[in-house]
Amino acid sequence: MDKKVNLIVTELEKMFPEAKSELVFQTPFEVLVSVILSAQCTDKRVNEVTNEMYKKYNKPEDFANMPLEQLENLIHSCGFYHNKALSIKNASREILERFNGEVPSSFEDLCSLPGVGRKTANVVMIEAFKGDAIPVDTHVLRVSNRLGLAKTKNPDVCEENLKKTFPKDTWASLHKRMVLFGRYKCKAINPECEGCPFYSFCLEKVEKYSKGKAKKKV
Ligand code: SF4
Repeated sequence: MDKKVNLIVTELEKMFPEAKSELVFQTPFEVLVSVILSAQCTDKRVNEVTNEMYKKYNKPEDFANMPLEQLENLIHSCGFYHNKALSIKNASREILERFNGEVPSSFEDLCSLPGVGRKTANVVMIEAFKGDAIPVDTHVLRVSNRLGLAKTKNPDVCEENLKKTFPKDTWASLHKRMVLFGRYKCKAINPECEGCPFYSFCLEKVEKYSKGKAKKKV
């Protein structure tokens, strides 16, 4: 690893030693459903919904034949409930028909499920099957661009760049730590740049924290 890459890995580890997903789930199928629900929604809200829903419904057979309206009502507060309900229902059907009721453990098979894109499949690979993957969500994309690890708005291109830059055995923890860093420190608006260990090479730092430009107190 070059110096900058090593610094990013070690400093993120220091900041978030217990890197884990904030979504709550027990089984690969619950991982899949929770990740589908988390699009454009906070993990906290998803957990509130699934905490109740999984007590009664947490298997593909529960959702495959559930009336769409009932499923929409269950997940309504997660937003985009019509599309999310369709994805969960159709993915459940395919899991039953093509995969004998088990969430597939290959990336390609996961991507073949309705409503499951690269990001969702990558998160399921990490959380359900301990795979090496770097899912790129809005936080990972923003942080990667700020740190000069990617220069793109395309999550797939960003994922490829990160895979080329970081050793494979760091991918999963790096993803989780970048999500937490983006969510709590390197926020889209008003990032907490003061004291950031990446300040010297960050491309979008807030300049007022630069030593030479610090505002004088009066
Ligand atoms: S200096 Fe600011 S914008 Fe740059 S990585 Fe750190 S927190 Fe994010």
